[in-house]
Amino acid sequence: MKAHDGMYIDGAWRPAAGSDTIEVLNPVDEQVVGRVPAGTAEDVDHAVRAARAALPAWAATPPTERAARLSVLRDVLVARQDEIAETVTAELGSPLKFSQNVHAAVPIAVAGSYAELAATYAFEEKAGNSTVHLEPVGVVGAITPWNYPLHQIVAKVAPALAAGCTVVLKPAEDTPLVAQLFAEAVHEAGVPAGVFNLVTGLGPVAGQALAEHPDVDLVSFTGSTAVGRQIGATAGAAIKKVALELGGKSANVILPSADLAKAVNVGVANVMSNSGQTCSAWTRMLVHRDQYEEAVELAATAAAKYGDRIGPVVNAKQQARVRSYIDKGVAEGARLVAGGLESPREQGYFVSPTVFADVTPDMTIAQEEIFGPVLSILRYEDEEDALRIANGTVYGLAGAVWAGDQAEAVAFARRLETGQVDINGGRFNPLAPFGGYKQSGVGRELGTHGLSEYLQTKSLQF
Ligand code: NAP
Ligand code: MG
Repeated sequence: MKAHDGMYIDGAWRPAAGSDTIEVLNPVDEQVVGRVPAGTAEDVDHAVRAARAALPAWAATPPTERAARLSVLRDVLVARQDEIAETVTAELGSPLKFSQNVHAAVPIAVAGSYAELAATYAFEEKAGNSTVHLEPVGVVGAITPWNYPLHQIVAKVAPALAAGCTVVLKPAEDTPLVAQLFAEAVHEAGVPAGVFNLVTGLGPVAGQALAEHPDVDLVSFTGSTAVGRQIGATAGAAIKKVALELGGKSANVILPSADLAKAVNVGVANVMSNSGQTCSAWTRMLVHRDQYEEAVELAATAAAKYGDRIGPVVNAKQQARVRSYIDKGVAEGARLVAGGLESPREQGYFVSPTVFADVTPDMTIAQEEIFGPVLSILRYEDEEDALRIANGTVYGLAGAVWAGDQAEAVAFARRLETGQVDINGGRFNPLAPFGGYKQSGVGRELGTHGLSEYLQTKSLQF
């Protein structure tokens, strides 16, 4: 894989301040696929200065011109989609088809949506005798994870640029190559120097320096709750704006009137895709007691079919972490009906698609985010019980409801404490606001709600 040995700052690839590097491994065969510089606080400072210097001109650029840049950026991503897919496959290990259909295609859709929104959004409103101007928040520090590496970058950078903000990005250490490819695409799209800057590096070094930098106006973070809590606290102390997209433990609620086989099969596919490394995955399946055994059998059969085709998890640490949750599930008395500790391959960070039955709401595997291909099936007595179980975690990111009648599913969905619900297998929508209730986060990404995160208001009275 092609890798730059510098940082993309102020419109060019520049030498890193230090000499440390990060090795990028392919999780399928544990081979090194590239090396990138490990940024320091000095690199971050350099990048933030560039972003600050570029801010006035970019903020003053007419939205239609910002939209035009985003539209070209989308076209560059389209032209390079095969390369994007291959890069994500090399550093994340996801099957190439999935990389093409999801890791490359979704960011293209999101970039396209912000090209349109930037051109059509009302950056000025009337309110009585006032004119309200929606102005860019300023310099954005974006910190992203590895699970949907390009999507999470574009979901922050595209709306930030549409709003007139400038950006410094610190991508995940495990997936920096697609971030470098993105920086090349931004350059190719003719985005002015300093508007977008990239510093690769480690979270506690480069990430923390970015989150703490006094000249960053907004920190937008996606990742673990532990790091999110720390970033939120740092931002709070500095009275700085912050957006946090954290974990989830979403419920897939199958009401008795639903098409059980469809709901179970789609539910299993949802959890296994991307090897379970999806924050919005429906990792808890809730089934009525009368249909429980049938659902368990269907889920075990469906999971067993995946084998190693889902790809590995991202790294050895994640593999060990997922396995420790499987251990805990068994130790706490859940019934293992598919998968388990045995890896489907000797080499690479593979975890067997795993299904637990007889999971009770208080078990660790029913409460904590595992971030691997592990499904827990819980039994409910009636609708009120299902609702209590579904809402009974600290998270509230996503979910699904299945029922024979759409209105019945909607009525249940309205009572869920969660930011997104798919009704009877509803399709992904790049315009739908994405983000969490409760400890799943602060703020929203995607669509107009995602754009408004990067705007602040100024009222002029006449
Ligand atoms: P993480 O550490 O929270 O990583 C997210 C991003 O934050 C990465 O760019 C990371 O850099 C950076 N970071 C780490 N420590 C930081 C700090 N002190 N200050 C500023 N930035 C920092 O997550 P992870 O270790 O990759 O994964 C651990 C668990 O988090 C997973 O098992 C999963 O449960 C959860 N997770 C959730 C999501 C989500 O979409 N909600 C995504 C990924 C992970 P490095 O890459 O160098 O660590
Ligand atoms: Mg980490």
